[in-house]
Amino acid sequence: MIKINEHYLKLKSSYLFSEIAKRVSAYQTQYPNQKIIKLGIGDVTQPLTKTCIQAFHKAVDEMAHEHTFKGYGPEQGYLFLREKIAAFDFQKYGADISPDEIFISDGAKCDTGNIQEIFSENTCVAIPDPVYPVYLDTNVMAGRAGMFDGQRFERIVYLESTKENNYIPSLPQKPVDLIYLCFPNNPTGSTITKPMLTSWVEYARENHALILYDAAYEAFIRDDSLPHSIYEIPGAKEVAIEFRSFSKTAGFTGTRCAYTVVPKQCMAYDNQAQPHSLHALWNRRQTTKFNGVSYPVQRAAEAIYTEEGQAEVKHIIDGYLANAKIIRDSLTDIEYHYVGGDHSPYVWVYTGTDSWEFFDLLLRKAQVVCTPGEGFGMCGRGYIRISAFNHIENVQEAMQRIQRALS
Ligand SMILES: *Cc1c(COP(=O)(O)O)cnc(C)c1O
Repeated sequence: MIKINEHYLKLKSSYLFSEIAKRVSAYQTQYPNQKIIKLGIGDVTQPLTKTCIQAFHKAVDEMAHEHTFKGYGPEQGYLFLREKIAAFDFQKYGADISPDEIFISDGAKCDTGNIQEIFSENTCVAIPDPVYPVYLDTNVMAGRAGMFDGQRFERIVYLESTKENNYIPSLPQKPVDLIYLCFPNNPTGSTITKPMLTSWVEYARENHALILYDAAYEAFIRDDSLPHSIYEIPGAKEVAIEFRSFSKTAGFTGTRCAYTVVPKQCMAYDNQAQPHSLHALWNRRQTTKFNGVSYPVQRAAEAIYTEEGQAEVKHIIDGYLANAKIIRDSLTDIEYHYVGGDHSPYVWVYTGTDSWEFFDLLLRKAQVVCTPGEGFGMCGRGYIRISAFNHIENVQEAMQRIQRALS
């Protein structure tokens, strides 16, 4: 008899975005003339830039001629892209990462999900709360989470982000093996300082633990004292894997391109406590299960690293950050507590009530859709996430409506 992976039965139904869609469509059916503004989704609204599109077109044309056609490329990605990434995203910030430590992929979601298969089933995993759900669900699927007690999974160590710790989790009380961190954070929009990130790197070194650092929102950082990469922290190369994505950086959510950095020195241990190179393991995994990102997409991503490409991408992100500033200023006006939005497209707002109740209130009184914080974990209860991914006129109107509804 064919049996299922029973760990899948422990997953909480991912009802967050479907429940939002259900409530929005019920409201719209009841009030068809109301114009709803969506500040709920974590997807970009600006198109690919001119420079990216030109490179994309040129590469597509190359595929049409026998002498420039490309078949299977390297599973790890083309060197032309890996070299640009190493120089612009790491060496520029003093982080000593070489092109062969970079693995190009079709998404940070897949990579953050797939990476855990190279670790033991008995790994003790620390996961932020609130959290980007991929980290938790993929470990549940792999059988590392234990049973769900109605609130939480018994084998997961939750790293709480609350008002008390300024939305930066403290080091775990008990030893853990694998630590997920995401900065600038989704959903809270909070950012970590170099001294605080240093304390995590030191913890990992002392405990032979590994940090999985998701920096998908790195391009939103506008303060040079904040770390762009975990590899700016001394000693991080031995204990950290970093994930990046062109999704939020350059509007690649529909085009798909991302990368993962696995430094050569980064180790994990076998049952005899002998060290093994994670770079070698991940390379083995990728060459077995992955066949690379398409050539035109990698050429489009490479174009981001030209002078024009850099300016275009910065301009787009400046626009999202201007939206976030409008959101923050409006919330300050009506004296709501919030975090984020300064180096992030997300603003995390304390509602003083139930997340879903507040969601309904904004929908009914302001016709604005946000994301209930509860959907990201227990610590999200009482919060909502407002996203700056929209057009400035919509953000302005949405915030005026919210101000009217709440004051
Ligand atoms: C959007 C996002 C990503 C990017 O995922 P892709 O698969 O590269 O589109 C990764 N991590 C977080 C936390 C995100 O919000």
